[in-house]
Amino acid sequence: MSIFRQKALEEIGRRETKPMFVEPTPSSKEFGINVFDRRTMRKYLSPEAYHAVASAVDDNRKIDRKIADQIASGMKTWALERGATHYTHWFHPFTDATAEKHESFLDRAKDGSVFEGFSGNALVQQEPDASSFPNGGLRNTFEARGYTAWDPSSPAFVFDQTLCIPTIFVSYNGEALDQKTPLLRSLQALDKAASDLCQYFDRDVQRVNSVLGIEQEYFAVDEALVRARPDLQLTGRTLLGHIAAKDQQLEDHYFGAIPPRIMSFMKNFETEAYKLGILLRTRHNEVAPNQYECAPLYEEANLAIDHNLLLMTLMQRVAAKHNLKVLFHEKPFGGVNGSGKHCNWSMITDTGVNLLSPGRTPRSNLQFLTFFVATIRAVFEHHHLLMSSVMSLNNSLRLGASEAPPAIMSIFTGSTLAETLKSIAERVSDKKMTPTEKTELKLDIVGKIPEILLDNTDRNRTSPFAFTGNRFEFRAVGSSSNCALPMMVLNTIVAQQLIRFKAEADALIKKDVKKDEAIFQVLRKFIEESQTILFEGNGYSEDWKAEAAKRGLRHVESTPSAFKAFLEKNSINLFTAIGVMTEDELHARYEIFNEIYVKKIQIEARMVGDLAINHVVPTAIRYQSSLVKNVTGLKEILGKDDFAELATPQLQSIKKIGGYIKNIRQLVHNLVEERKKANSIEEFSERAQAYTEKVLPYMKEIRLHADKLEQIIDDEMWPLPKYRELLFVR
Ligand code: ADP
Ligand code: MG
Repeated sequence: MSIFRQKALEEIGRRETKPMFVEPTPSSKEFGINVFDRRTMRKYLSPEAYHAVASAVDDNRKIDRKIADQIASGMKTWALERGATHYTHWFHPFTDATAEKHESFLDRAKDGSVFEGFSGNALVQQEPDASSFPNGGLRNTFEARGYTAWDPSSPAFVFDQTLCIPTIFVSYNGEALDQKTPLLRSLQALDKAASDLCQYFDRDVQRVNSVLGIEQEYFAVDEALVRARPDLQLTGRTLLGHIAAKDQQLEDHYFGAIPPRIMSFMKNFETEAYKLGILLRTRHNEVAPNQYECAPLYEEANLAIDHNLLLMTLMQRVAAKHNLKVLFHEKPFGGVNGSGKHCNWSMITDTGVNLLSPGRTPRSNLQFLTFFVATIRAVFEHHHLLMSSVMSLNNSLRLGASEAPPAIMSIFTGSTLAETLKSIAERVSDKKMTPTEKTELKLDIVGKIPEILLDNTDRNRTSPFAFTGNRFEFRAVGSSSNCALPMMVLNTIVAQQLIRFKAEADALIKKDVKKDEAIFQVLRKFIEESQTILFEGNGYSEDWKAEAAKRGLRHVESTPSAFKAFLEKNSINLFTAIGVMTEDELHARYEIFNEIYVKKIQIEARMVGDLAINHVVPTAIRYQSSLVKNVTGLKEILGKDDFAELATPQLQSIKKIGGYIKNIRQLVHNLVEERKKANSIEEFSERAQAYTEKVLPYMKEIRLHADKLEQIIDDEMWPLPKYRELLFVR
């Protein structure tokens, strides 16, 4: 066996006899101890400073620079007590991870003495030398100016002895260079549009928060095995590897007992997450072997996203202590399920009402239906954009494969709600309703919703966007991605339809239509307009693809084509009208998405070439030589007839191996040539297309041949840990 693979397996063998690293069980007492939350702020800030932060969060008020000094001072005192030595502005560039540049608190006074300082300026703004972050031309590297600015709505926290201050990242002109800025703008737009519409139902509503519960799927693999797989190490997925005899056929992993080693890892990262204010609630095995999931309790969307990104970092750190590696990649292994990041999304008022939860009275149900239908209408209108917003190289490998929706948007509401919508559309017309009609509609249709929902448990797991009782669950989002982007799109498109809803109902009311009747009329219109997006059947089936095409629903054909969705006229109008992104910002994103996509394939293509030529082919030759030696030996000792009989299988193998080697060499050569050609294309979007059409297919083909060799060659010689080891050693 190759030295790396052998060493890895030996190392794991020794590991299992070691006692596990287990932290004490979590307690609510430690919850949030590393977060500068409101409770802590009250303790460390003057009432004036506390009030400044609170009203910045609650009412979007600006914080005065003088007050910022006070806040910084209180924050520093607390952070030093929590063991921090450095601070950093923590932000979301376009790379899916978070970025940080640490600065020590240490400073020198005029008299030469050293002290710990932290000014209001340092809290509010930093200028990271971030010219090498992707920026899509928004910030010329010559100007090289980008600023991070404090986002007080996500509390600062201490992580690994560093005070982390969540920030946005913008250019000198205020253009968004990050994922958080547009997200915050979209949350504000949704808040405004939803609060305005709520006035029809409840005049006490002043704010509406978008809330999010993010289910995070992942694989956990022994770190020694990952070290022996250069592809996993560099790209996060296996580029070669024949499927194991057993994978998920028996479906014995899902919800099964969590392996002890993984359990101790989970307990450990959960404890650390609690300290950071991340309220994890569920943990379980997922469908594929070595695949797991965790989910926190839902919370305000901006915070939920920050927490998800922090959690991913945290899990990776804690995993290292357990000699594990967490794979967040959407499709680390061919042939078994990939991983998603299901986004459970709803809207909650400051009066505590979930706008996507059916209520007890016809009136509150009318409010529910308004927001429910507006969301459906929004997803219909921008179905292609919303689906496109989750596309990436990684996710394109997952969507449409095992246990994942195809890249076509549809909504599952459950048959009973689908019936409700149909009934409304049938009964309501432009004509004035009689009092009896109105009462019937309210009692028979609207009033019945909570009852029927109770037994409406037929959840459709194959839908990319499903209503699950009191929220929508967007399941097409990829596990490694920052879901700020799709959530920004979702908030924006819903805001647009809420604004439209209100405008249309107001226009009717102006024409003396009664308010409820006006709402019903707009509901009917919205329902009729968005009929085609509703689908209750099996979203994984081939029939659905054909049916969706017939309905005029767009299928995202390729990842580069998905990026184009952001530049369509309808999208540009949407983002600029709602004030979430400018045309320049959209173009910049388009550039960046293409650039990242190309670079990722480039890395993978190089890696495949390396694995094929430097790992697989030499191993194949070695095995082939051993067969040749065997055949020459047989020839020496056997008579002609015996030899012909007994050496034939080996001779066939020698030939077969020769064929695969030849093919691999040729394919790798072609791959390199296509890459060269693609690289000469100036325009990133065209280059992305070339990489998709010309380079990716070669990678698949090389894999096919390499996997064949894996099946022929002596297991002892095979250099890379195999699927059965990666998926079953734990
Ligand atoms: P399932 O696997 O059944 O979909 P999980 O318990 O794994 O459910 O995750 C559901 C997620 O949805 C959790 O994060 C939960 O807090 C969140 N959630 C529950 N209700 C709402 C809601 N009204 N709005 C947003 N998220 C919600
Ligand atoms: Mg779940």
